Amino acid sequence: MECRTDMPSVTLPCHQTMLRGVGVGRHGVNTNVFHPLVRPVPSLIDAARQRGLRTGSFYNWEQLRDLSDPGSLDVSHYCHAVDTAEGDQRVAETAVEHLERLDPGFAFVYFGHLDHVGHRDGWMSANYLDAIANADLCIGRLVEAQEGAGRLASTVVLVTSDHGGHERVHGTEMDEDMLVPWVLWGAGIRRGHAIEEQVELRDTCTTLAHILGVAPAPEWEGRVITQALAEPE
Ligand SMILES: [Zn+2]
Repeated sequence: MECRTDMPSVTLPCHQTMLRGVGVGRHGVNTNVFHPLVRPVPSLIDAARQRGLRTGSFYNWEQLRDLSDPGSLDVSHYCHAVDTAEGDQRVAETAVEHLERLDPGFAFVYFGHLDHVGHRDGWMSANYLDAIANADLCIGRLVEAQEGAGRLASTVVLVTSDHGGHERVHGTEMDEDMLVPWVLWGAGIRRGHAIEEQVELRDTCTTLAHILGVAPAPEWEGRVITQALAEPE
């Protein structure tokens, strides 16, 4: 529950850190408006595609269209609804629809309603906790669909967040903004273990690449959180 995100603790910069395996100081995207990287760093999606895996992205905050290079996604689906719980459910249902056919090596799924409720009603407010429960149901739908397709035994799920928040804002260096959950579950993952080392959000890219057998890009600075992996049998 204490993965450290990046500064500024806002959505697009932190997602770039999460999926490009380098900090804001290196990728340079420091606002919610994307600009092409001066010194490019491939994202996990680019690297997965390079290795020949099918890739998908499903989200309801449109700025997340720039988490990979053009041509790296087999399916990219933006759902225009972030202001209701049903908006997140629509993202989940859209993902389920596509995942069944796509059988992706890697899929990114983003539920934005939580952030919307945080700004409207406050972080950790009753409505915020309801939005978390809704996001949890949405994740359950995805897992259920993988199970239905007979793919659960080879599925790994990583649940994390780009940032936290306090009162009705985020973006500062406060722990409330900076510390996020980082939960890894599934095939080859150690069960019932609380990770003891400090996880940084950029470790998401490198750890998932390791799990997927994708070669790490030389630019990536994140580590592989081997503590989360089960001992090979
Ligand atoms: Zn926000």
